[in-house]
Amino acid sequence: MTVFFANEASQEVIRRLEEAGHEAVYVGGAVRDYVLDKRAEDIDIATSAEPEEVKAIVTNTIDVGILHGTVLVVVKGEPIEVTTYRTEGMYSDARRPDEVHFVKSLREDLLRRDFTMNALAMTKDGKLVDLFGGIEDMQDQLIRAVGDPLERFQEDALRMLRAIRFSSSLDFEIEDQTLQAIRQSAMQIRHISVERLKIELDKLFLGLNPAKAFDYLVATGLGAHLPLFPKSFETLDSTLPFKSAREGWAFFSIAGQYSPGEVARAYKLSNEERKFISAVSEAFTKRENRLFSTDDYYLYDVSVLKATEKFFHAAYPDRLTLTEQQLQQQKESLPIQSVKELTVNGKNLIEWSGDRAGKWVGDWIGKIEYAVLHGFCENDPTKIKEWFMNDFKRET
Ligand code: ATP
Ligand code: MG
Repeated sequence: MTVFFANEASQEVIRRLEEAGHEAVYVGGAVRDYVLDKRAEDIDIATSAEPEEVKAIVTNTIDVGILHGTVLVVVKGEPIEVTTYRTEGMYSDARRPDEVHFVKSLREDLLRRDFTMNALAMTKDGKLVDLFGGIEDMQDQLIRAVGDPLERFQEDALRMLRAIRFSSSLDFEIEDQTLQAIRQSAMQIRHISVERLKIELDKLFLGLNPAKAFDYLVATGLGAHLPLFPKSFETLDSTLPFKSAREGWAFFSIAGQYSPGEVARAYKLSNEERKFISAVSEAFTKRENRLFSTDDYYLYDVSVLKATEKFFHAAYPDRLTLTEQQLQQQKESLPIQSVKELTVNGKNLIEWSGDRAGKWVGDWIGKIEYAVLHGFCENDPTKIKEWFMNDFKRET
């Protein structure tokens, strides 16, 4: 039997490791998602072979975290992470094991994993290894820590946020003792780097049920220890679902009344994310006073307009709101979408005027752009020339 989710490449990797006398199995999210009948994001393999052995057996490898036992295998453009069975040593700072130890048994490897549903393994022939009742917990839609939850969160505080982000990604509940332990350990999340927090929050925003996760964040007190966590969630329900993770970050900024710059800095957002949330925040302030103007439609990307209108509606449910389709139509009906669409350029202006190139060219392109956008002049070279010659002469 061939396992449904496994691509040929990963089957091949396991086969080669087994032929060399090692154990190798699928682990982690890929197995969980297979059991849940969902498409896995990425495929992880755990093996008894040590990294150097993996590299000798499988070619095309990249060392990504060799000290932690992980070798990345790229087959036909598909990345597969192959990690040596390992346990983690002491955690002296609730965030990273001081050392990892390679071990020979799969059981020990599964014991270090966070939740029962993430501690499943599967052989290449589709046989499940379920040592901690992960299948039953998944049937009950429960997120349960492997072993003693308090200890597990003391070891690595990020797991608390992972539990909550899975409540969104999968729309599962958090098992009582696990939840209780989050309440007790919430403050430890302050030890975790923002890079790791951001990865989990991105996934939380894009999950099936972000509202559930935000409820957990508030109820456990974990949210209060996250940077710039919004104090009010009144507008959340009408803002959901988030179409992208960056919409989630815009929610942080608007609902939390923090400036986009603060949010971007606190969570080390990418430039692209920062620009998006800044645009939404700026457009939102305008929208609180009036409908979008022609200049707004021109200035903002349609994704910004749509997100802003959604946030506006969430904040002011009684005020007139445009539909996404109306926004799209308004945007598309502009005479031009950008200055690049003008049918004339600087060279034309220089030729028509007989003047030398200079700052005036850029200024005049700006004026033409404005005139075309606002319908004072058609975007047609002859019309623009006429309009330009008239006004240019008058000004000089
Ligand atoms: P996703 O589908 O969102 O990638 P995932 O479960 O695969 O979810 P990853 O971060 O890719 O999440 O981690 C892969 C596996 O590694 C997990 O399924 C889990 O077994 C283990 N793992 C990841 N992070 C931790 C952690 N902080 N503590 C313990 N085990 C972890
Ligand atoms: Mg994964």
